[in-house]
Amino acid sequence: MFTKIQIAIDGPAASGKSVVGHLLSKKLDYLFLDTGLMYRAATKIISDHNLLLDDLENIKLLIKESTFELVDHSGHPRLLVNSKDLTDSLKTIQIDRNVSTISKIPEVRNILVSHQRTIASNVNIVMVGRDIGSIVLPNANLKIYLDASVEVRAKRRLNDKKQNFSPNDFDIIKHDLIQRDKTDSTREHSPLMIPKGSIVIDTSDLNISEVIESILKELKN
Ligand code: C5P
Repeated sequence: MFTKIQIAIDGPAASGKSVVGHLLSKKLDYLFLDTGLMYRAATKIISDHNLLLDDLENIKLLIKESTFELVDHSGHPRLLVNSKDLTDSLKTIQIDRNVSTISKIPEVRNILVSHQRTIASNVNIVMVGRDIGSIVLPNANLKIYLDASVEVRAKRRLNDKKQNFSPNDFDIIKHDLIQRDKTDSTREHSPLMIPKGSIVIDTSDLNISEVIESILKELKN
């Protein structure tokens, strides 16, 4: 039996985890899982069912009954929730604002973590999120923590072509990032942290290729 390789990448919002993780997985021909999309999808279906964010009982039931599948469409990972491809509808300001409230709920986390571990079993994988090196894959072969200043992260989000922001949105984007990082890193269960044994890379002054190169160097060591 071959040993499977797991690369865990954690870090705050807009630190580059998804872009870097996806390109790295392509280079290595590994599976890629962006766990943030799963928390975003959970937030979307809760809102689509008109559940209030404090209706914990119905939220837990809904997430428990939902199916989460990762499929590949011509090299692009897609997330199917209850057989529907939600991948392109999850990066909205509304979801940005509510996702940290949903991801604080321990039962929601337990269900999603269990899906994440199932997806990771028996494959080489790059998995990105907030608790990958600490909780989901604590024995990962390589743990990376990507960081960048909040100004740089807000600028990256502002320049994201898919999001249609105007230059005046900078302050509000920065404010929302600070709020989300605070909620994610101070929550009781699986808070955002630098996992034990991880390599911290500050990407503020690095381009994507440079970040990928430094991760590949660490993988070879
Ligand atoms: O990475 P992304 O910004 O898409 O994550 C959205 C949100 O999902 C985070 O702000 C966090 O609240 C939650 N999340 C989490 N644990 C993960 C991945 C994401 O709590 N492993």
